[in-house]
Amino acid sequence: MASPASSSSSRIDVFWHEGMLKHDTGVGVFDTAMDPGFLDVLEKHPENPDRVKNMVSILKRGPISPYISWHTGRPADISDLLSFHTPEYIKELVQADEAGGKMICEGTILNPGSWDASLLAAGTTLMAMKHILDGHGKIAYALVRPPGHHAQPAQADGYCFLNNAGIAVQLALDSGCGKVAAIDIDVHYGNGTAEGFYRSDNVLTISLHMNHGSWGPSHPQQGTVYELGEDKGFGFNLNIPLPNGTGDRGYEYAMNKLVVPAIQKFKPAIMVMVIGQDSSAFDPNGRQCLTMTGYREMGRKVRKLADEHCDGRLLIVQEGGYHVTYSAYCLHATLEGVLNIPSPLLLDPIAYYPEDEALAVKVVDSIKRYWKDSVPLFGEES
Ligand SMILES: [Zn+2]
Repeated sequence: MASPASSSSSRIDVFWHEGMLKHDTGVGVFDTAMDPGFLDVLEKHPENPDRVKNMVSILKRGPISPYISWHTGRPADISDLLSFHTPEYIKELVQADEAGGKMICEGTILNPGSWDASLLAAGTTLMAMKHILDGHGKIAYALVRPPGHHAQPAQADGYCFLNNAGIAVQLALDSGCGKVAAIDIDVHYGNGTAEGFYRSDNVLTISLHMNHGSWGPSHPQQGTVYELGEDKGFGFNLNIPLPNGTGDRGYEYAMNKLVVPAIQKFKPAIMVMVIGQDSSAFDPNGRQCLTMTGYREMGRKVRKLADEHCDGRLLIVQEGGYHVTYSAYCLHATLEGVLNIPSPLLLDPIAYYPEDEALAVKVVDSIKRYWKDSVPLFGEES
């Protein structure tokens, strides 16, 4: 009998490099890296190596391991970064690294080792995308840190320096993919990726996030339904701000009513699923209530869309997810869904969490009505 990973659609090619663990964000109160002087026990910054160590180990030793094929990542060249970021911004980061590091913006700390890790995250994501584009596999997962989806062309934000997913999307476009769709399910608005393609009609960016609004000068975007893109890109940035407490059923409703029809109309050549396990019920940085069941279903739906429109070509890029145990479990569940494994391989150790989806349904329905009037992709619908 063939092993589960023998065909490219029943296997996930995971791209990873342990050098990304060298990004040390320090300890303090939450993500400040500051000691207030009155706490005996200081916590690690939420974006710490432990969370990713568990993601690696659960894929290596968990029940999904036979479906995973491992590939060693590589650092990006500076020239690779300029397809998405401005030269001035990259210079600023290089200089910060040469000076021994600094806090670039709130919670976003470039320490010695951080820049090398950032180059590895970007390069490893590019390698995963190239693997698909070159026809070596259909489904690739870039298991990377520091995360990237808040990094804008000229601005670091929210623990992110380089927009790993954005750089990979640009590679797909430059390699002849006419249209790329990025679906971001991290609990925070994928503002950096949105900003990078805000004036493009070749890239459909969709973000499902909690309704957190702007959080300061590094994150001026609000993530509202009204931020639809500009110029040619108008109607190709779709924000789905979901009420706090939205869980498995609310996310499923939003996927069915908003995301699936948008992708069906757009018809991308390749899909990028931008994942964060900080939408889980137990995340310190989020107020949503997804469990492993919800992640599994979203993985399944995105896979189905990739099969229908993209000949199965799907890049998955890691973003946030800060509960050191549950993030790994939710990742496992997401990839089970992507693989279309019929029944769960791994049971949920800490769900159940209550969910009242009525408010989410109301919000999703109102977004759908708004899109019908404002978004060409939806207005054409009969
Ligand atoms: Zn996040």
